Parts: sequence; C-alpha cells; structure tokens
Amino acid sequence: MSQSVITRFSPSPTGFLHIGGARTALFNWLYAKHTGGKMLLRIEDTDQKRSTEESVQAILNGLTWLELEWNGDPISQLSRINRHREIAEELVAADKAYYCYTSPEELAEMRKKAKYERKPPRYDGRWRDCSSTKVPTGIQPVIRIKSPRDGHKVLHDIVQGDIHFSNKDLDDYIILRSDATPTYMLAVVVDDHDMGVTHIIRGDDHLTNAARQTVIYDAMGWTVPVMAHIPLIHGLDGAKLSKRHGALSIEAYRNMGYLPIALRNYLVRLGWSHGNDEIMSMQKMIEWFDIIDINKGAARFDFKKLEAINGQYIRASDNKTLLKNVISILPEIEDGKKIAAQLNEKYWQQLRDALPELKKRAKTLVELIKGAEFIFAKRPISFDKKATAILNEKGRRILGGLLTILEDCHNWTEMELDNTMRTYSKEIGLKLSQIAQPLRAALTGCSASLGVFAVMTILGREESLARIREQVI
Ligand code: GLU
Repeated sequence: MSQSVITRFSPSPTGFLHIGGARTALFNWLYAKHTGGKMLLRIEDTDQKRSTEESVQAILNGLTWLELEWNGDPISQLSRINRHREIAEELVAADKAYYCYTSPEELAEMRKKAKYERKPPRYDGRWRDCSSTKVPTGIQPVIRIKSPRDGHKVLHDIVQGDIHFSNKDLDDYIILRSDATPTYMLAVVVDDHDMGVTHIIRGDDHLTNAARQTVIYDAMGWTVPVMAHIPLIHGLDGAKLSKRHGALSIEAYRNMGYLPIALRNYLVRLGWSHGNDEIMSMQKMIEWFDIIDINKGAARFDFKKLEAINGQYIRASDNKTLLKNVISILPEIEDGKKIAAQLNEKYWQQLRDALPELKKRAKTLVELIKGAEFIFAKRPISFDKKATAILNEKGRRILGGLLTILEDCHNWTEMELDNTMRTYSKEIGLKLSQIAQPLRAALTGCSASLGVFAVMTILGREESLARIREQVI
C-alpha cells in the first residue's frame, strides 16, 4: 500500500497572511485533498523577536476565511526546540556535525579574506576535523553540519525538474546557534521528518535551502520528501509582487469585498491551470489539481481579472450566502459600519429584496454595499454633485408632476410603476429616461443606481413618495 500524502503549510508568523502564502496553502491543501491525504499547519515561530501572536491569529483567520482547513492542531515550531537540539547533538555524536568555536572576529576576518580573493563568503571549515582537546574556554560553540566537500547533488523537484548543485557550494552551515536555538535549516528538516511530511510544496525562493537541507536528511539517513517549488507571484510588470502593485494581505482582500470562493478560484490559476477552464467548483479543483501540472514560469497577478472573477461569483451566489458575506464585512468597511448599526427587521427585508438586482452589477461586495446605501439613507436625503445638478428647477418640476401620478398609484409593483410612468412620459412629451433621472436623484441621492422601478419597490410606496415630496417645490 502506498504511503498516504502529508503536506504542510508552514508560515512564519511575522506579519499577515500574504497572497503568495495563501496560494502556497491552497496548493498544499488541494494536493492533500486530491490524494486523500492531510495538510498539516506548522507555525514557524522560532524567531521570537519577529513572531507575534497577532500574526498567528491573522494567519489562522485568513486560512479559515479561505476555507482551507488544516488537519490536527497547528504545531508550534518553538515548542519543539528540545527535539531540534537533540538531533543536533545526535549528529555531532555520529560525526556528521561538529562544534565550532570560531569567534566573531575570526569570522569577520574570513569574510574579508574571501572578499579579497573574490570568493563567496563561506566558513572555511576550520573546526571540522578538530579534536575536543583544543577547545577554547569562554566561547559558546555553535554546531555546524558537515556538508560533503566535493561531487555534486541533484535535487529532484516536481516543478523545477532536476537541479544540480555543486557540493563545494554547500558550506558547513550552522544548525544550532551558540544560545542553543536551532536555525531554520535544522528545525524545518526535523519537523518535516517528525510530522511525516511526504510532499513539500513551497515557494521557489526556498530552492537553494532545499539543496542544503538534503545534507541533514542524508546525515540522518532520512528520506527526502518529494519537493515541489512553485514560482513566486509577480505583478503584471514582471517584478516580484510587492506593495507597489496593490494589497497583499488576505484580510485586505476580504475587506475589499472579495468572496473567498472567488479568491481561491483566482489563486489556483496562478501557476496551475486545467485547459481553458476558468471558473471551477471546489470539487472540480480537487479532482483536477496535481503538482505535476504546476507551471515553471512565474505567475502574474492581474487585479482586473480577479475583480471580473469575483463579479461572476457574486452573480452566481445564492442570495442567502451572499447576504451572509455582505453582513460579515459590514463592520470592516467605512460606510458599512453605519449600515450595520441600523440593521433592523425592515432594513434586512429591503436588503434581501434588493440583492437580486444589486448583485447583477457589483464586482465586489463593497460595490454591492455602496449600491445598497440608498436603502439606509435618512430624510432629508443628501445628494452627490451630479444629483444636485439634476435636481434643478426643471428636475423638480418634473418630480412635481410625477408625484401626483404616483400618489394615485396603489399597486406598487415594478410592472405597474413602469406602465404608469411610460404613459405619463408620453403625455408630457418627455422620454422615460428624462423623468427617471430626477426621480432616481430624489430617491437615492445619486445619479446612478439600480433600475428606478426596482428602487421604488424596494423602498416601498410611503418612503418613495416621501423622498419625492421633499424635492417638489
Ligand atoms: N517559514 C517559511 C516561510 O514562511 C517557509 C519554510 C518552508 O516552507 O520550508 O517562508
């Protein structure tokens, strides 16, 4: 029976969950799901100066929001440092690693010399074969791994292919610092091994680390997991994705009104695709996703494309789920807070009634909420610049006539309102759009909105008439 797949997502909690990290998590999650395996979550918190609890929370929240659930409890790397130390000592005992007492001054000297000789700054291995008799007092040693000195190493990577490394480029790097804390190199290998990780899927910025990490695997006689180093995400200009290109945190995307399902669908196609399929259900994604199909070239993040996909998902959402998503982000956005404070039974109903229309034209939930603001507007309505211009004397006069007609209309349905206004527009010799314009301005305070008949039915007869009356001279 073949071993079941175990992947892991292993963020360092030094900031928010980054869009690139989210894609890495998604690929790990999908591959685990595709193979019926597990995805574990390891928080790489050994850098205590930079790791924060807040960041751990942001990462967990981000993953939860994206519905990328991990198996078991998150594992803190810090909680495992005794085990890391144990392995470092074991490697020393097996003569695969050694104590190094080189002082900072000597290291500086070494770097200077290497620079002078135009060589890469590398530890020269001076403690590699020393017996303990020469140990100086007063210096806390570090432990260094014995990297092979010659020959070369081939790293088999599912995405990148076979990568050849010359062993002389792998120096005897530190695995345990002088304060007995493990380096990333050691901690990651020990943890991946102990957690039974079978597949390492991570950004290709870790490719050279991977070659160096195999030294520890080999020294311990452990099997190197399958590696899949995925190309980083770039902006449309080809540069590595950065703040300059736009928002980077998952939380920001949530607060800009993206649906988790849309973001997932967009992210999966950054570096992987399935023919020309653009919109795919989670089920299909799981069925189709395989690490062997990940592209080698850098993926480009296209904000417009994400927006378009989000719009498609909003339109396709059932109203109940959509309403839940809208409500959940209200407290996160400026105008949403006011709305959240007012939501009573009546407003709920109106918002629900408006959703089918609102979702037709919104690319983000923020746009959708903006479109719903008219519902919550309080009389006297305030007007934007264009609406103010529309409600000039002529506009108000049109409204005056319209008010009389509408006051006589008791069957307040879109169809009836449509008929009434069409008849009236013919009577006074104006186009329907000419009378709809001031009407829309009076009802919503804006020059653009949902169809004016929909606005009237959503607001209801009393409120609509009251808003019109306010503008009639
Ligand atoms: N903690 C590392 C990072 O956030 C990832 C290490 C790994 O995947 O091996 O970049």
